Amino acid sequence: SPVDEAFVTLATTDGYCMGATVVAQSLRRHGTSRRIVVMISPGVSDESRCALQQVFDEVVRVDVLDSGDRAGLARLGRPELGVTFTKLHAWTLMRYRKCVFLDADTLVLQNVDELFDREELSAAPDPGWPDCFNTGVFVYRPSLDTHARLLEHAQRHGSFDGGDQGLLNAFFSDWAVSDINRHLPFVYNLSASTVYTYLPAFQRYGHDARIVHFLGPLKPWLSGSGRQRRDAGVERFVALWWKEFLQHRAPAPP
Ligand code: UDP
Ligand code: MN
Repeated sequence: SPVDEAFVTLATTDGYCMGATVVAQSLRRHGTSRRIVVMISPGVSDESRCALQQVFDEVVRVDVLDSGDRAGLARLGRPELGVTFTKLHAWTLMRYRKCVFLDADTLVLQNVDELFDREELSAAPDPGWPDCFNTGVFVYRPSLDTHARLLEHAQRHGSFDGGDQGLLNAFFSDWAVSDINRHLPFVYNLSASTVYTYLPAFQRYGHDARIVHFLGPLKPWLSGSGRQRRDAGVERFVALWWKEFLQHRAPAPP
């Protein structure tokens, strides 16, 4: 039901707070009936926190968890992603029965409340290794027990990519084979880069995109609202992202 189900995102820096704002705004634009929650760490400025309080139903403070796995993160080429272990706090949001986690670098293009019909752990394939799920969008059930077991798994085995995705794939290791209902269609986590990695598929199915994910180091908030990128397809999504962001920032009419 609407009150015990929530969309959850995470921001540990002011840049990711810009992304989180867009997550909340785009969910509201498409009329979600669920609660919208953001987890923030102490590194977020007061100004950003106040801005988030305007658009989220709940702002939850959490501590930063870092995998500290420099070697794994170097292999991944993303030294900044150790802090994505902070995502594990999502399992502690016990006032909700079921949640959908969305990365702060996602943009919702349609109502996606039907995701709450799915069970833990539902997610879409990762475009880089489709037998792994991508952890930018996933359905889960808060549980202190699961949370403790995830931390224990992290302590014992680490994460094969140094970030949350390696850990969660190792933990929910039967995802690829156990239950096709836990495979979200790719349109729920469409990596913006698919526009050029498989253009014909994008042209065939892209119109049904529900959630775009700006996966990779080049985030929309780093690109500037006016600047053109080389790729026209991705550029369209970046423009949509900025439209949503600036909508929120627009001053109220007198
Ligand atoms: N994140 C964060 N601060 C950081 C890095 C990541 O808050 O410094 C959160 C944020 O919600 C982000 C998610 O962790 O969307 C995963 O990181 P990112 O989206 O950069 O990874 P990618 O999707 O590019 O693999
Ligand atoms: Mn992401």
